[in-house]
Amino acid sequence: MAERITMSSEGALQVPDEPIVPFIRGDGIGVDIWPAAQRVLDTAAAKHGHRVAWKEVLAGQTAFDETGTWLPEETVSTFADYLIGIKGPLTTPVGGGIRSLNVALRQVLDLYVCLRPVRWFQGVPSPVRHPEKVDMVIFRENTEDVYAGLEVQEGTPEAKKLITFLHDEMGWSVRPDSGVGIKPVSETGSKRLIRAAVNYAVARGRRSVTLVHKGNIQKFTEGAFRSWGYELVREEFADVAVAWEDCGGDPGGRVLVQDTIADITLQQVLTRPDEFDVIATTNLNGDYLSDALAAQVGGIGIAPGGNINYVSGHGIFEATHGTAPRYAGQDKVNPGSLLLSGVLMFEHLGWQAAADDIVRAMEATFAERIVTYDFARLTEGATEVKTSEFASAIVDRL
Ligand code: NAD
Repeated sequence: MAERITMSSEGALQVPDEPIVPFIRGDGIGVDIWPAAQRVLDTAAAKHGHRVAWKEVLAGQTAFDETGTWLPEETVSTFADYLIGIKGPLTTPVGGGIRSLNVALRQVLDLYVCLRPVRWFQGVPSPVRHPEKVDMVIFRENTEDVYAGLEVQEGTPEAKKLITFLHDEMGWSVRPDSGVGIKPVSETGSKRLIRAAVNYAVARGRRSVTLVHKGNIQKFTEGAFRSWGYELVREEFADVAVAWEDCGGDPGGRVLVQDTIADITLQQVLTRPDEFDVIATTNLNGDYLSDALAAQVGGIGIAPGGNINYVSGHGIFEATHGTAPRYAGQDKVNPGSLLLSGVLMFEHLGWQAAADDIVRAMEATFAERIVTYDFARLTEGATEVKTSEFASAIVDRL
């Protein structure tokens, strides 16, 4: 019987054998990648005695065409009620009231972690020599930083008022022809993000958590993120994790928590990727780092993502690319990003065996150089297949 996923009083997800999971097919190439991903997910789930009762909800262009709103209230309340959902890419309305539908969903449900695992699959074309050394999981803070939307436009009365206030009350001199943005980074926001990253590292037997920040320059936002991270480890994780400076780099079986400055991190994830494992970082750093790392292992066509609130239990897993309208309806693009987001969702639900099966089948498919057009043009001896055929190839290998 189809049932709701719930949260126990101890804060653990309770997942029935047939959970109801809302999904947004997505605009543009959503019509191609969603059916492909769903078929693979359903087949793998069935192999392990699970079944997903998919519940379609609308957002984006499809919602606008049918209901006149980009993000219907019913869609938001369905995600709120059923806790866990998944979505394809959405068209961002140009000149509409909503800045981005994705940002709106994250804010309404307070999905404070953007989870981006980055790993390489054998056979996937990569611009680096040793993509197999890349196996990182990024925890990007999803609600604060320069993404808080606290900005005023140059030349407006608001900008003038703020610049005058900063001058008169703080003694700060800001050029009068400036736009001004505010970057809030809180102890609450930082600690809950880093707590999620350390919990993940401990639960999955990961070696280290690296706090990535720009604290050498932005001391009270990025620097504070780092300090709060170490404070948290000492306060809440002393038995299972330890800060670098408290152990001289020898964690003795515990998870090692260390930190690096954001700019040098972007070099080192390229030159010494095997030294990074779980990464916890502020919003903007995480944005850059997620896509830079994804490029090393095949790009956005294959990079999965999840937006999660580990306290309320809410989570929306999503393709990390856009709607690629040029390719919509052609059964051509790579369903990898959405499919692997589904795999991430299965792992989050505790369906690890089904998730592992999909990864194995995908590896077998890539190993035989069966790929969609985006990888085919970069792979010697490739067999180029359609979106649906790529899904069939994975299903055949499950
Ligand atoms: P995009 O990601 O849609 O496309 C950029 C290019 O990447 C495409 O032309 C295509 O060559 C390639 N690509 C993307 N997905 C692919 C896939 N699955 N397989 C193979 N190749 C793929 O970015 P864009 O063109 O800047 O944006 C188009 C629309 O998507 C806009 O409305 C934008 O706002 C929206 N968007 C949505 C999301 C989201 O919903 N998460 C993210 C980014 C952009």
